[in-house]
Amino acid sequence: MQTDFIAGQPVEVGSGGIAVQRILGRNAGPMTGPGTNTYLIGRQHLAIVDPGPADQHHIDRLLALIDGRRVEAIFVTHTHGDHSPGTALLQAHLDTQVIGLAPPHGSGQDPSFRPTRLYENGQRIHCSEFTMSLLHTPGHVSNHLCFLLEAEMMLFTGDHILEGTTPVILPPDGNMRHYLDSLEKLQSLALRYLAPAHGRVMDNPAQVIETLYRHRMRRERKALSVLTQRSLTIGASSLHELAVAVYDDVPGHLLPWAERTLLAHLIKLAEDGAVVCQNERWQPAQSLNNV
Ligand SMILES: [Zn+2]
Repeated sequence: MQTDFIAGQPVEVGSGGIAVQRILGRNAGPMTGPGTNTYLIGRQHLAIVDPGPADQHHIDRLLALIDGRRVEAIFVTHTHGDHSPGTALLQAHLDTQVIGLAPPHGSGQDPSFRPTRLYENGQRIHCSEFTMSLLHTPGHVSNHLCFLLEAEMMLFTGDHILEGTTPVILPPDGNMRHYLDSLEKLQSLALRYLAPAHGRVMDNPAQVIETLYRHRMRRERKALSVLTQRSLTIGASSLHELAVAVYDDVPGHLLPWAERTLLAHLIKLAEDGAVVCQNERWQPAQSLNNV
């Protein structure tokens, strides 16, 4: 195993100007890759990003690393089960503010998550050793936040941007148009590092964001092209039939998740007037107009 993917072992990331450690959780899996990263920021006065799942072993490891130092804030990117439930376990030991957005309704969400107060896009949180600004980045889910460690221009990206894979977009709460808008918004920032919830820290943010954006647009064009081909030969397509053809490069066990992201693309294309859905079967809007 590579040394930077050992659960519980802190890895120093960034320039070191502000101390940032990445601590991998023990929840490796098909949807979490090597597991969820928790970040520990600061030297004497700390902050935590994404405590991870409700895994007491991981929380105990974090408390050992904190070693009695003051924790001024827990930042939570979103409320999926592999990111936020560890917050409540930490709160049993730490009296600190919890920064994030309340969970939307839907499966996979952590209904126990309670932010300390209402937070909003652009808000800056001043800690003793650094300032973090909040960027609302809906798309993967509606309540997703990225956090910018200003002094390092390091962006904690949660599941908005991952290393080694692309995030799934989960409608109805997730939204492809919002996702692409949220990606574009980041391009105007002079970022130095992307610190994802899954995978390694990346030091080429502009390139990563551009590649991700292009990947999404390429997948959308492929969906439209496959839909058009099928409508000419077979007729309208079910979501599953379409997913099998559009995601022919994705391992079968990931297909159910690819289907969700494909649905997000189709909803966006339908809003654009490019496709229509009738009786749960999709086809290009053009083919209907020609009937
Ligand atoms: Zn997520």
